[in-house]
Amino acid sequence: MAQTPDTRATIISATLEAARAMVTRGLVEGTAGNVSARLPDGNVVMTPASLAYETMTTDDLVVCDANGNVLEGTRPPTTEKALHLSCLRAHPDIGAVMHSHAMYSTMFAITHQTIPCVIEEFDIYVGGDVPVTEYKMTGTNELGEEAARHLSDRGAVLIANHGLLAVGKNPKDALKVSELVERTAQIVWGARSLGEIVPLPADTREKFAPIYKMLGRNKG
Ligand SMILES: [Zn+2]
Repeated sequence: MAQTPDTRATIISATLEAARAMVTRGLVEGTAGNVSARLPDGNVVMTPASLAYETMTTDDLVVCDANGNVLEGTRPPTTEKALHLSCLRAHPDIGAVMHSHAMYSTMFAITHQTIPCVIEEFDIYVGGDVPVTEYKMTGTNELGEEAARHLSDRGAVLIANHGLLAVGKNPKDALKVSELVERTAQIVWGARSLGEIVPLPADTREKFAPIYKMLGRNKG
């Protein structure tokens, strides 16, 4: 049966729900992190700057056009607006972007180490190793462009000396990828203290890695 496309109201409430889940699931603290999602008309809904997620309502969210002009909302958009819009502009198949400061992922980001794809499900849902951007200052267009260039066949990228960015077909999916990457970062960190990590066999990678693209990021 064909999937019904998400409506505007569904996408907006899912954006708020995912933003709240970032806090309750420990991916950020305080007002850090941000979420955005593409609306059916091509505009983008995103979280506002510096506002507590616990008390945030959908009226606090901001709608921008693809170039960042604010169309709706009374609050300023997230200071990482350029990061979100660059990723959504560069990849029409991405429906939502989540940026968080998840602890173990950020440990990899500050040491500029990729999170290796050494678990089968990681290949399917993330598409391979999570790469690290070159360092670019937070809030800049340069950081947005640098992050976007890593996302053609990958569900997440580490932002050097900063944190994690994950993408998906909708905000719930971007949250799921964020959690999977964070959990894997913790597992890899712990596994390294036990010994050398055994890579997945090449034929497993060849079989599973294309599934990420096949599943699609904007299909239900
Ligand atoms: Zn941040």
